[in-house]
Amino acid sequence: MASIACQHHVSWVVEVDPGVHQCILCFERVTKNQISPRWEDLPKEFQEHWDRFEAGDHPAAPNPH
Ligand SMILES: [Zn+2]
Repeated sequence: MASIACQHHVSWVVEVDPGVHQCILCFERVTKNQISPRWEDLPKEFQEHWDRFEAGDHPAAPNPH
């Protein structure tokens, strides 16, 4: 595999499967440590949304119990 220097900019990152973020440019699965700008430079609102999604906690999802 060629190593592509993709920055996985947050505007390219989409939610694909439950808890999984994917970069639409390089199709890699990405974590918050791999995206740009750096995680700590992102808005708190973005971070909270990301964490909730990765935890599988969808605010709009119906309660299974
Ligand atoms: Zn990428």
